[in-house]
Amino acid sequence: FKTIEILQVPFINTTQRHFLKAVETRVSQRENIFVVTANPEIVMYAQTDCHYLSLLQNADYVTPDGIGIIKGADILGTTLPERITGYDVLVDLLKWGNDAHKSAYFVGAKQEVIDALTPIIAHDYPNLTVKGMRNGYFNDFAPIAADIAETQPDMVFLAVGFPKQEQLIADYRHQNNGLWMGVGGSFDVLSG
Ligand code: UDP
Repeated sequence: FKTIEILQVPFINTTQRHFLKAVETRVSQRENIFVVTANPEIVMYAQTDCHYLSLLQNADYVTPDGIGIIKGADILGTTLPERITGYDVLVDLLKWGNDAHKSAYFVGAKQEVIDALTPIIAHDYPNLTVKGMRNGYFNDFAPIAADIAETQPDMVFLAVGFPKQEQLIADYRHQNNGLWMGVGGSFDVLSG
């Protein structure tokens, strides 16, 4: 996709439908892809941390998560077609993963959230293979990354908040091909 830069962050200039199609095709081919759904908070934070900005610039897709980004594009005299939020992408990929019999690994949020989420995922997405479900309060991600490498999920969803989730993805994505995406507080929402 073509991109539009807002404060040096390259946002994909496409619709959610086209974006999801591209991701689904590439995940099916077991390509290694890093998705960031960036809200205005993330864009502003990146202005203060050039290392984090470069992580965003090296992601495969940065999507406009929120109306603030769409309006930002307007102010710069360009147009982004629609918002593509982390929560919506997560839910769509779970639906697709269920239909296409894919697998996923979930890391993040409190243990009570994971306990509530586990039966919901099993019930709503029975054909999605869950390779792991872990809370986000670990000291060391390396053992979790090792488990991800061993179980080879098609999609890894990391819900530990920014900037930590993007940093971990940048550090560990090469241990497993497939999708890696930070989803912020989405597990809290999904778990009800
Ligand atoms: N979280 C976590 N580990 C941490 C810090 C936070 O798993 O060390 C979780 C927290 O429980 C919540 C999510 O990360 O589910 C952060 O949600 P928030 O909406 O703040 O995400 P952000 O907008 O910061 O990306």
